[in-house]
Amino acid sequence: MCTDKEKRLHTVTLIPGDGIGPSIAAAAQKVIAAAGVQVEWDVHVAGTSAVDQFKDPLPTQTIDSIAKNKVALKGPLTTPIGTGFRSVNVALRKEFDLFVNLRPAKSMIGVKSRFSDIDLVVFRENTEEFYAGIEHYIDARKSAAETIGVVTRSGSERIVRAAFEFARKYGRKKMTIVHKANIMKYTGGLFLDVGREVAKKYPEIEFNDKIVDNMAMQLVMNPHQFDVIVTTNLFGDILSDLCSGLVGGLGLAPGANIGAEVALFEAVHGSAPDIAGKDIANPCALILAASMMLDHLGEPEAAKKIHEAVATVVRNGKYVTKDLNPENYVGTTAMAEAVISEIRKS
Ligand code: NAD
Repeated sequence: MCTDKEKRLHTVTLIPGDGIGPSIAAAAQKVIAAAGVQVEWDVHVAGTSAVDQFKDPLPTQTIDSIAKNKVALKGPLTTPIGTGFRSVNVALRKEFDLFVNLRPAKSMIGVKSRFSDIDLVVFRENTEEFYAGIEHYIDARKSAAETIGVVTRSGSERIVRAAFEFARKYGRKKMTIVHKANIMKYTGGLFLDVGREVAKKYPEIEFNDKIVDNMAMQLVMNPHQFDVIVTTNLFGDILSDLCSGLVGGLGLAPGANIGAEVALFEAVHGSAPDIAGKDIANPCALILAASMMLDHLGEPEAAKKIHEAVATVVRNGKYVTKDLNPENYVGTTAMAEAVISEIRKS
């Protein structure tokens, strides 16, 4: 018998994406349905597929759909290097002021990695500092260039608060704020000052700060000392990949971009054009992003079921894609089916 909760219908914008995107997005849709969550998918294009169809990498219909539904699941998008349109991912962050980039890095048995039992979460500020696009050559001869990184009190406050609220909600014990305030005394100093102020409101969570270079070393030597990490845009970009590396790379890494109104969930990896259309892409990063999305939508039980089903399939190592087991592997569809079969057993 269905409970009221199971009957809830969520409307979500789906951007299947480029390259391997459509195949892993289809896998994620099937997994969500198997977990008993009803989703009406409002499917729209972005990236190269949108340029082909609408001559626009981010068509108005796609923006309107996300604005209306407030939640989106996005496959990876191809960004041309050097020429062509600017990153649609960056454009989406700007359009919806998605100031939180949340990246969990959790060990899974069955994935080759240097450490086990890692359970880290990185909160990266997603809109300010060196990624705001305030940059230019200082003269026509391109003899020098500058990028201006602006850090604001309000921008710092909202990312640090989001990290603490997450820690409180999920019973996390420790928060580490990462900065370079010893050298960048104003931008780094402001971020650290705000972090210390916000931390006072969460006395139950242990709080410390680390200078980014030391943090990089500490993470590779003893990552178990950390729990939740909050930092500015550039450091967050680098450290979140480092943390993914600690648990075996990007193959199983999900991410979320969250603003006050809208949240967008995606795999961390790109569109992998080299393997597109071959049914060999690992669908699990996007499936785990879908699990994060369900948590956000107030479906924590289904979210947990999906996470556990992926962990079981990866641990068993029998129905996994080539990136996880090069000797003995199955395709994208078969791995997704194995996840679905685990969900049905639970
Ligand atoms: P990539 O992540 O697409 O691929 C890097 C390597 O990892 C490739 O060898 C690829 O085959 C492999 N790989 C990636 N995902 C995989 C999966 N699910 N299963 C198995 N193997 C996988 O990075 P790239 O080649 O640098 O970028 C390709 C395109 O993706 C570029 O246009 C880039 O701009 C874009 N990109 C998009 C996003 C996003 O939309 N969030 C993120 C990163 C890169």
